[in-house]
Amino acid sequence: MSSLQNKTILVTGAASGIGAAVVEELISAGASVLAADLAEADDLPAPHHRLVVDVSNEASVEQVFEGLTGLDGLVNAAGITGIGPIQDLDTEQWQKVLGVNLTGTMLMSRYATGLMLRDGRAGSIVNVSSAYGLTGGPGNVAYNVSKSGVAQLTRCMAADLGAKNIRVNAVCPGYIETPMTDMLKHAGAFRDQFVAMHLLQRPGLPGEVAKVICFLLSDDASYISGVNLPVDGGFTAAHVPQGNL
Ligand code: NAD
Repeated sequence: MSSLQNKTILVTGAASGIGAAVVEELISAGASVLAADLAEADDLPAPHHRLVVDVSNEASVEQVFEGLTGLDGLVNAAGITGIGPIQDLDTEQWQKVLGVNLTGTMLMSRYATGLMLRDGRAGSIVNVSSAYGLTGGPGNVAYNVSKSGVAQLTRCMAADLGAKNIRVNAVCPGYIETPMTDMLKHAGAFRDQFVAMHLLQRPGLPGEVAKVICFLLSDDASYISGVNLPVDGGFTAAHVPQGNL
């Protein structure tokens, strides 16, 4: 993607899954990548760089942005899941999931936006919501609510920042094979049914989401803002009953 050449992009959740695939895609597109995650990891070759951040902790986020200049884009891919229906939901778990997925996205975006506005630069922010940010679902209430919050945050940030030439969009992935969804590999019939809810009848790959994120980051998407784009193999498009009429 030629329009990402020499752009500086910060990616959270960069050590695994979708975030790691975004880093790979950005490097091959010629961008400079700041790859942020919870833990120390092997450094990347210059001009790319690894950063340690806990997106749910404001002091940690503030530290990441200290001394940073020239940021063109941000990808908020850090996230955690937190399985459980409402009747079993633990308040601490609710706060943790909301803290990472929603507050973390807000904090990173606020600091990135402050930097872009200070530098007088155009910018592009891509959040990672979920197909479950667009529709309800059982057994994962904290996660699903956090992701619908990310979808609304995306629209509201786009409204605040459009006139400043900062675009804000989100992708809403369906079932993507990453470490986060490893547990589904052992879920037998549940996994089969879940896969069957995706019109394409297969899980997605992290790279299939990363390519869309890079498109939204790039100048090729220069007239797109405020969109929550399903990258979900058709999961949110239709409900397909099993069997024939
Ligand atoms: P993953 O577990 O492979 O990667 C998530 C990364 O986020 C990890 O490297 C983890 O260390 C990092 N992280 C977690 N908490 C953090 C924190 N407080 N600060 C900084 N980094 C933190 O998962 P993934 O599947 O690649 O998920 C990436 C994003 O995509 C998440 O937001 C997830 O909710 C979303 N998503 C995933 C799927 C899916 O099916 N895999 C579907 C929809 C949405």
